[in-house]
Amino acid sequence: MLSAHEALERLREGNRRFVGNVHGANGFPGQARPADVATWQEPFAIILGCSDSRVPAEIVFDQGLGDLFVIRVAGNIVAPSQVGSVEFAATRFSTRLVVVLGHSQCGAILATLEELRRPQDDQSRNLRAIVDRVRPSLEGLLATELRHDFDALVREGVRANIRTSVNHLRHGSQVLEQLIQEEGLRVVGAEYSLETGVVEFLEEIA
Ligand SMILES: [Zn+2]
Repeated sequence: MLSAHEALERLREGNRRFVGNVHGANGFPGQARPADVATWQEPFAIILGCSDSRVPAEIVFDQGLGDLFVIRVAGNIVAPSQVGSVEFAATRFSTRLVVVLGHSQCGAILATLEELRRPQDDQSRNLRAIVDRVRPSLEGLLATELRHDFDALVREGVRANIRTSVNHLRHGSQVLEQLIQEEGLRVVGAEYSLETGVVEFLEEIA
């Protein structure tokens, strides 16, 4: 199994190929075919990404079948089932890198800002469950001068929300905490730019 550092480098290289349009993500010679991975998988990274149709992890990282264990949910939020999914992959497959992949102009951030400005009573309980998890990241920003600059607010809100999910995964699970302390598991944040296709990792791994 790749180390977290090696896994991150592989993602970086894949994103460079995607941005450079070097080749398509699927069906590229050399990548696994369904039968190759039918009985076992060894994903080298776990991605917790947003459901946004423009940010499919396998494509933006140019990876094939069996390479990534992907969890997608609007706003890349962390609820118990997301933590459980990460725990499952990290323990079952010994995957050592977890990436929380947010993106520019995320609809969950925009919807939560809207809700904070004009609360709606008729919002569905299920949608509210997502907004409630994004809200704390934005409330702090709304208390600063950023509240006068909507674009900056969205930009910083996306990053704050990514960091919140990273922290939740790092500290919200005994299983993951132990893997981090003893087995080299790393959880990092990253932001995908809808405009350029580039994934920027918010921190480095030694
Ligand atoms: Zn989104």
